[in-house]
Parts: sequence; C-alpha cells; structure tokens
Amino acid sequence: MTLVPHFVHGRRTEGGSGRTQDVYNPVEGAVSAQVPLATAEEVAEAVGSAERAFPEWSGLNAQRRARILLKWVDLINENMDELATLLSNEHGKTFPDAKGDIQRGIEVVEFAAGAPHLLKGEFSSGAGTGIDVHSLRQPLGVVAGITPFNFPAMIPLWKTGIALAAGNTFVLKPSERDPSVPVRLAELALEAGMPAGTLNVVHGDKTAVDALIEDPRVRAIGFVGSTPIAQSIYSAAAAHNKRAQCFGGAKNHMVIMPDADLEQAADALIGAAFGSAGERCMAISVAVPVGEATADTLRTLLEERIATLTLGPSLDESSDFGPVVSAQAKERIESYIAAGEKEGAELVVDGRGATVDGYPDGFWVGATLFDRVTTDMSIYREEIFGPVLCIARAADYEEALRLPSEHEFGNGVAIFTRDGDTARDFTTRVDVGMVGVNVPIPVPIAYYTFGGWKASGFGDLNQHGTDGLKFYTKTKTVTTRWPSGAKEGASFVMPAGS
Ligand code: NAD
Repeated sequence: MTLVPHFVHGRRTEGGSGRTQDVYNPVEGAVSAQVPLATAEEVAEAVGSAERAFPEWSGLNAQRRARILLKWVDLINENMDELATLLSNEHGKTFPDAKGDIQRGIEVVEFAAGAPHLLKGEFSSGAGTGIDVHSLRQPLGVVAGITPFNFPAMIPLWKTGIALAAGNTFVLKPSERDPSVPVRLAELALEAGMPAGTLNVVHGDKTAVDALIEDPRVRAIGFVGSTPIAQSIYSAAAAHNKRAQCFGGAKNHMVIMPDADLEQAADALIGAAFGSAGERCMAISVAVPVGEATADTLRTLLEERIATLTLGPSLDESSDFGPVVSAQAKERIESYIAAGEKEGAELVVDGRGATVDGYPDGFWVGATLFDRVTTDMSIYREEIFGPVLCIARAADYEEALRLPSEHEFGNGVAIFTRDGDTARDFTTRVDVGMVGVNVPIPVPIAYYTFGGWKASGFGDLNQHGTDGLKFYTKTKTVTTRWPSGAKEGASFVMPAGS
C-alpha cells in the first residue's frame, strides 16, 4: 500500500506516529493509499525545520525569492498533467477541472512574484523639522496553512505563494483526504531552488492542527475549511497570540431577474451548481428566480439541461462531473436530499441511486434539483456541499436581495439581469463578500482579494491580493532624525509633528 509521505526539511518522511488514514480513489470507491497522521512532536520538527530555514530565505532579497517562485511556476506547468491526474484520482473532480484548480493557484504565485514592488513601504520626507518617516514590511517568521480537500492545489498555492514571497517559511497541513498534490508541490519548490525547510508539508488531523496553533514559533495561521472548524481555529489562534485568517463554508445564491437571458442563466447555473459535484466553496446552491413566470421557465430549462449531464469517471473526457470525495460525503448529501423531501420541498430531480457503468463502488451522487425551497428548511439553511441545487422563489427584487443578505453565510452571490440600475443596487446593498453580475462564480482574480463575510470568514484580511501580503507581513515604522538635530540637546517633550 502506497504511503503518502510528509515532506520535511527537503525530504520525504514516513513519520512514526503509527496512526494512518485511508486515502480513496472516489471513482473506484477503493483505498488507493494511506496517509500518516503526525504527532505533536513531528509537527514540532517541521516547525523547527522552517525556523532553521528562515534566516537564509528571508535574507534573500525579494527579487531573488521571486525568481525562485517563477521557476516553481515553470516546474508546476511542466508537471501539470501528472499533478492534475493525481488530483483527479484523489479528489474526484474531472481532469480539466483539476487543471483549473492548479492554474488558479499558479496565478497567485505569479502575482506574489511581484513582491519587490508589493513589499515597498511608505516614505514621508520632512514629517517634522529634519525628520523623515518610513515604513517597511517584514516577514513574520514561520507561518502555517491548514487547507481543505476541495482545492488541494489552489488553496495551498494561494497561501504558500504569498507567504513565501514575503520571506516567511511555511508548514502546510493539507487535507488528509487528498494529500499527494501538496507534497509534489513542495518537492517542486525544492527543485526550483527553495532551501530545504522553506516549505514543509505535514499530514494530520486535530492533533497536528492543535500542535501548530500551540507552538509559539508559528506566527500566523491561514485556514480554509468548514465554518465550525474555522471558527474554533480562529479563537484558538487568538488565544495563543497568533494572527489568523480563517475561511469557512458557504451557501451561495444566484438571483435571476425577469429581464435576464434565461437560457444563459440556466447554462451558468448548471456549471456553477454541478461542476466539481458542487464541492466548491463558490458553487451556487440556491437559485432565486424573481416572479413565478421566471421561476417556471427557469425550472424547465434546468430540467432539460440536467437530463443531458454526464456523471462519470474523473479522467473520462465525456464526464461533466465526477464522484463526491468520500462515502461519508455521499451519505451526508443523500441524507440532506431525504430531509428536503421530508421538510416539504418539491424534489424535481433526484440524484440518489446514480450509477456509472464499470464503477459500482464509486461515490456517485447525481445532479439533484429542488423547487419551492423555503428559508426554514435545512437544505436552505445548511451547506450541503454536493450536486444539489435549490430553487427558492422570490416574489420581487427586494425579497431576492433579502435572501442572501439575511443568510448565515456570506461567501459569494450573483445576479443575472440586463438592467444596470438593478445590478448596481444589488452589488451595493447585498450583505455578501464576493458578488457576480452575470457571472455565476465570481472568484476574484489573483491581484484582487478573496474572502467571504459573516459565517464564511473570520479575520479582517482576505486571501491573496494585497491583503495576502498584509496578512503575512508586519509593518515596521522608522522615524529618523540626523545628527544636526542632536546638537540642539535632548528634548523631553513629545514631538508634535510640525
Ligand atoms: P474541513 O473543515 O473538514 O477540513 C479543513 C481542514 O481542517 C483540513 O486540513 C482538516 O484536516 C482540518 N480539520 C478537520 N477537522 C479538524 C478539527 N476538528 N480540528 C482541527 N482541524 C481539523 O473542511 P473540508 O471538508 O476539507 O472542506 C470543505 C469545506 O471548506 C466546505 O465547508 C467549504 O465551503 C469550505 N471551503 C471554504 C473556502 C473559502 O474560501 N471560504 C474555500 C474552500 C473550501
């Protein structure tokens, strides 16, 4: 049985905890490897390795670090097919979607390679008589990332790319459900020229995460995953005097106005709801058509499209989407479908019991559509994280605006309309962090920032873009006065600045 190794101080290591977890191929529904679960001592070793690497890595000037990052990007591109295959085999998303996962991560590393510019401080000449003030951004030291299963390349690259560009060294604790790609990424970083220990990967569960949070050498925790864990890690990190940014779950709505191009809206919804089997934090899980006529037409268009979708093996070119990640995920999604029926929603298309020829044990869940979903139902309130789309009909625009605004989660939202005034009002008033206008999955590009509101994000700085640089650096402010001032003798009064 293959063991997915840890990667510490530039070397693969099997670890000695004696505790492992099975890694599955979701298409086969069978165990494909095992992953070791680190002890607190093993985590401490990885942190020690990052601590030893810090002086050399942070001592390189930002441009030299950026060159190594760009070489890393080249190597990731050269190995794209291998990485995407590995990713598909452990996650279940299709091969083109796996490439997209890697590509959206690469884009942030490319952005981070602008570090020499991004790290520039401010300067005020003559802030007082003979006094200059300048600021500089310095790395924090050893920082850690804890990442979810659903983007095993993109999210580790978002975190490591920015943190490393700023001169930090890193311990990554990726998801134990698809751990192979992060290890390969760290190996490629070493090959690109990063000193051993600059980027370490340690697998594990709560024990490993707690060890990272409690270790005083770790200065920051970047987390992405489900909301209860995000919230508890945010509190625990604060209790250990660490800065933290913790991103959680989602329930993303798409409002469809009566004036929208409904064919286009239906196409967009199909991709956004069922792509990657709905296992995206920016997937649309609630469609909000405005008015009964819009809802009736949209429902028909969705039914027609769902009937043509191909559920199949991740590496099969004809598959629109693959299996969900685990047997537990399948069970959870199916139990939500049962709950939706029980709570009185109209089950238009039932994805339970879906099968794929040749893969009887795969974790298959077909596209599922509910209509007449109301705000009191669990399928509306909670994140299902599967290929389940709920239609929640709104009587008018104000009700449609209220639904995402009043929802517990506030990650992404979209509006489909041809009316600029409606779109402008919506983008201004909706209480959600990332908004799309005729764009179903508005994931901001690398040089903007990514982050949800309310229960979707804890912390004040978003991921990537300039917020990412701020999160992984601390500001030092220097006030300078040159010797002629000293000739005047000591002053016991606080300078007032003019
Ligand atoms: P998860 O919360 O189960 O796991 C995330 C990470 O936390 C993993 O590394 C896991 O090992 C670790 N972890 C799990 N239980 C823990 C515990 N008790 N203590 C400490 N660490 C623990 O999430 P997941 O199932 O891997 O990912 C799916 C979730 O992530 C969804 O809720 C999705 O919406 C969310 N997500 C959010 C964003 C975002 O940017 N907001 C992006 C991607 C995914």
